[in-house]
Amino acid sequence: MRIIDSHCDLLSKMLQDPFVDFNQIQSDIAVNLPRLQQVDMAIQFFAIYISEKLDSSRFEPILESIDLFYQKIAANPAIAFIKSREDLEKSITDKKIGAILTLEGADGLGGSLRNLRIAYYLGVRCIGITWNYANWAADGVMETRNGGFSIKGQRFVKECNKLGILLDVSHLAEAGFWQLMELSQAPVLASHSNTFELCPHPRNLSNEQIKAIITKQGAIGLTFVPYFVKSNDPQISDLLRHIDHVCSLGGEDHLGFGSDFDGIETFIPHLEHVGQYDQLINELCKKYPADLVDKLVYRNWLNFLKNSLHPKSRC
Ligand SMILES: [Zn+2]
Repeated sequence: MRIIDSHCDLLSKMLQDPFVDFNQIQSDIAVNLPRLQQVDMAIQFFAIYISEKLDSSRFEPILESIDLFYQKIAANPAIAFIKSREDLEKSITDKKIGAILTLEGADGLGGSLRNLRIAYYLGVRCIGITWNYANWAADGVMETRNGGFSIKGQRFVKECNKLGILLDVSHLAEAGFWQLMELSQAPVLASHSNTFELCPHPRNLSNEQIKAIITKQGAIGLTFVPYFVKSNDPQISDLLRHIDHVCSLGGEDHLGFGSDFDGIETFIPHLEHVGQYDQLINELCKKYPADLVDKLVYRNWLNFLKNSLHPKSRC
């Protein structure tokens, strides 16, 4: 069964440790080529994430991460770098592992549309506007003031729409979320968030947010971060309850998975690295019809990307 996963932080680990090798299985690394191949991953999103200790407000570490992506991931012949719908379709036909380059937190773009366009020219196709805190564009979910978009942030949204960069609302404060629903001409995604109703954490989405994403033809990637699944002793069965909840809100065609592998240090049992996707699929198959399982692990993200990526890359 082919799989699409909308969030991992391997690039962040690569930026901090030069010995991270995509081609081998290494301890403490959850995403690597052998395991992606083993589970038949069709598309993996790779997020650029600059931790605060590396100074997330600088553009340079973003460029360094893009260089690592080209050198260590996209250079591999098994990988197809996806920048357009055309690339997506070719990657699927060729049975490659498609790689989508994303940016988690626009901080390092420094409010510059020039830097945004440079990131686009280099292949970034999806941006999470904030991480947990405020940046020049908007507030993250941990900002108690719950602010919306700055004027620069609003211009950034317009430019992303124009370029064909997808906007990711995971980590975005709720005020900004609702503003974005008005501002964005394109569907949005939540690449790694669960439901607030079942696990009340600020990183999770309220019923109203979930319905708004669905209405806007967007998509949600449920995440394996244990404390966004259940506050104590989360199991795969608890993750499946979030599926039931999103489906009860009409989200059957808008739901997938965004693991957050390599961005987490604690795990749901049997979901500790990308090679364990088969265990999740086994559990899904026990509970849901094959057609729904296919939508959840693959087809919903595929349809979202086909509808959202521009037909051809303009660079
Ligand atoms: Zn994240």
